[in-house]
Amino acid sequence: MRIKDNYLRSLSDGREVYYRGKKVDSIIDHPVLKVAALHAAKLYDVADRGHSNNKKEKMAEPEISTYFLTPRNPSDLMRRHELIYSTTKFCNGVFNISQAIGSDALFALSIVAKQTDRKYNSKYSVAVDDYHRFIARKDLTLAVAQTDAKGDRGKRPYEQNDPDMYVHVSETQEDGILVRGAKAHTTQAAVSDEIIVIPTRAMTPSDANYSIAFAVPTNTKGLKMIVRPIDELEGNSSNVLSRLDYELETLTIFDDVFVPWERVFLFKQYEMAGELAVNFATFHRFTAVSYRSATANLFLGTAVSMAKQNGILESAHVKDKLVDLIMYKELMRMSAVAAANSPLMREEIAVPNPVYTNIGKLYSNRSFSHILDALVDLSGGIISTLPSLEDQNDASERSYITKYLGAATSGNERIKMLRLAKELGASSLTGYLLTLMIHAEGSIEASKLALLKDANIAEAESLVNDIISQTTN
Ligand SMILES: Cc1cc2nc3c(=O)[nH]c(=O)nc-3n(C[C@H](O)[C@H](O)[C@H](O)COP(=O)(O)OP(=O)(O)OC[C@H]3O[C@@H](n4cnc5c(N)ncnc54)[C@H](O)[C@@H]3O)c2cc1C
Repeated sequence: MRIKDNYLRSLSDGREVYYRGKKVDSIIDHPVLKVAALHAAKLYDVADRGHSNNKKEKMAEPEISTYFLTPRNPSDLMRRHELIYSTTKFCNGVFNISQAIGSDALFALSIVAKQTDRKYNSKYSVAVDDYHRFIARKDLTLAVAQTDAKGDRGKRPYEQNDPDMYVHVSETQEDGILVRGAKAHTTQAAVSDEIIVIPTRAMTPSDANYSIAFAVPTNTKGLKMIVRPIDELEGNSSNVLSRLDYELETLTIFDDVFVPWERVFLFKQYEMAGELAVNFATFHRFTAVSYRSATANLFLGTAVSMAKQNGILESAHVKDKLVDLIMYKELMRMSAVAAANSPLMREEIAVPNPVYTNIGKLYSNRSFSHILDALVDLSGGIISTLPSLEDQNDASERSYITKYLGAATSGNERIKMLRLAKELGASSLTGYLLTLMIHAEGSIEASKLALLKDANIAEAESLVNDIISQTTN
């Protein structure tokens, strides 16, 4: 299987990345962006991440990454959940998307390619299977660009004033297609080997040109990535977590990018775009509840530690808040376990149960602000007013700071945990995580629509109708 150095070296391949107004020559030499690359590289150090290959995967390699194992039953899904959970913990509680999101897309593509082939007599399954084998054999990292720039949210793709607001076919050629448009918020795109592009919504006949799915290497000509500012690393000198692990997002621009036919997985079959978007979303939200339950350890662990150090652990309101934090972590884990154990079978692939997946995802969307509330309350106002690292290290200030910031534990000890509490609860990272917990892996409204569609409301209606039918007067 691939080793970390091979991945890191491969990033110097001429990809077009911009950061804070400058083109980045080498990501692994960049003082800020290299942290995102080193975070991605940790994937290759995860213990037991390999899976003994079997004939079903049709690959020669004795071992492939478990991320690329197509789930066929509940135990495959449970294994996937555990891998995502343990990889997140291995990366200090920060999600490592490198093979998780890409495999979510590969499974969805595999299901929809078969359905499309049956309906249109096309050959997408061959292309998707070939690509899956290529990625698994080389043990590559992937980003998935689904969310389009979108323009006016009240209009469909074909209705936009600017036709580039959704990624679309700009030219059809003999050996492939040219694509134009932009995708937003693409996590780890600038440090991935490949980018898979899929539609963000259901399409109508007029949107056929926008109904496309494909994959390209990240250094493809015409592909430009503008990285968001990493404020959590640069704007907080006392941070402890972000200097170890963070993920970047890019505005990912396709400026007439060439895609050969063998990497095109959907081409204008507009009726299948929604199916692809929803299948991906279900897999990806299962990934979300799996990693978010691991990330919740950061908030639970820091809150408990702050309560202990403040000398308030036994107070009733503290226990109340700790219960909220425990429920946040475990409810997501429960939703992942329930979803894994009652999958829907589609095209011989086990899809995590969408009702349990979306309930966990919605709970996490809605409850993250309570988790922040708990951490901020238990830590105290000092997480906003903590003297800077520079002051903590200054000889004439240090003794005062450590003396007056001592509580149930010494100032020295408490300040270490306060730095992490500040980073999680009162910094740029807090704002980033709040947005992530609400929007990443699909909007709240999208999860609600999916839940309403898949929930067994008929059972409940039938129960009350039976009661009414037994009423005689
Ligand atoms: C940290 C982070 C990482 C992400 N990573 C990825 C990634 O790797 N790949 C990827 O593809 N995406 C990624 N996303 C994107 C994520 O899936 C989207 O943010 C999410 O789907 C919401 O889309 P949006 O940001 O365009 O919000 P908007 O669509 O602008 O939402 C704003 C508001 O408008 C509402 N709205 C939107 N459309 C309509 C409509 N037609 N009618 C009524 N109301 C509407 C929404 O419900 C919401 O209330 C990431 C996002 C974040 C924050």
